[in-house]
Amino acid sequence: MQAQIKLGRIAGISVGLHYSWFIIAALITLSLSGHFHSVAPGWSDAVVWSAAIITGLLFFAALLAHEMAHSLVAKAYGLKVRSITLFALGGVSQIESEASDAKSEFWIAIVGPLSSLVIGFALLFVARLSGWLPGTDPATPVMAVLLWLGYINIMLAAFNMVPGYPLDGGRVLRALIWWVTHNADRATRLAAQVGQAVAFMFIMLGLYRFFAGANFGGLWLAFIGWFLLDASRRSHVQVELMEGLRGRPVADMMDRDCPTVEGHLSVQDFVHEYLLRSGRRCFAVVHNGQLSGLITPNEVKHVDRENWARTSVQGAMRPLSQLRTIAPDTPAIQALEIMSREDINQLPVLSDGRLEGIFSRRHILGFLQNHAELYRR
Ligand SMILES: [Zn+2]
Repeated sequence: MQAQIKLGRIAGISVGLHYSWFIIAALITLSLSGHFHSVAPGWSDAVVWSAAIITGLLFFAALLAHEMAHSLVAKAYGLKVRSITLFALGGVSQIESEASDAKSEFWIAIVGPLSSLVIGFALLFVARLSGWLPGTDPATPVMAVLLWLGYINIMLAAFNMVPGYPLDGGRVLRALIWWVTHNADRATRLAAQVGQAVAFMFIMLGLYRFFAGANFGGLWLAFIGWFLLDASRRSHVQVELMEGLRGRPVADMMDRDCPTVEGHLSVQDFVHEYLLRSGRRCFAVVHNGQLSGLITPNEVKHVDRENWARTSVQGAMRPLSQLRTIAPDTPAIQALEIMSREDINQLPVLSDGRLEGIFSRRHILGFLQNHAELYRR
């Protein structure tokens, strides 16, 4: 889910809106104005609409607080949080890596519904302090806003705790299974299965309600169910892929016929005779048969064009001493982590100082694409 409208940054996390959010904002404002008309028939149209719009905005702030809670706890556990996007069905926090243990997964997931719950009860408490008696209709517009927001936040907490992965409740369930079984993949698979069952129930219940009472709420429920079903299917496929990838060494995926160039060659000759002719992007530089470094278009860019003829590949390359290298039996997942962490695209694979191959991000991509075909239906 990519934000189409950027709102700004909070605590280093960029916050944005997806267009679909406006649909839900309009629906909420409309249904709120209807709600306020019915609880307070004496209010003028201006009061009803202002109350509806303000409530809509505050609801948005509460959703943001829920996502912010997830993100801040994730950050506290050392995970990188890129952005928060609000869309038709709520919010998503784009957390770059998965939690590395069950405990952090549990807290990252549960803190969202907990914040909604706390916000909800706090608002009802404020309404109570300003004179509202439970079981009665609100006496003032402010009280009506407080009550609606209070209840909706409590409902939000409850809905998010439905154990349908990837809803928060599903993540909490996954963390608990992980905690007990010490097996993250098994936990995801089980939580995704429960998620699919819950999604089916939503769809069935929604359709039943739609046909029984012909109301729009039923369709909405079915739609949420369909969305959940799709999301939990996806996480299921993802875990199968990751399992296929895990434990697989880079030697299974790397390029073995890595092109090499001699170090004494000039950059000029390298560009014309190797880089442009072969269409490859990464070359191992050898000197007396030994690997001495790597050269890619990136290193060539650092040499001014007029110096190409005078500079040797040896002088322009990234020397071995500055390169991160891996062994053939390094797990591919670990190699991917190294590449992401150090922001590099390829890793030379060495065994006893000899170049065995080159491993790059596109090898993982190729592997995943081949595997994804197996799971696509
Ligand atoms: Zn949440």
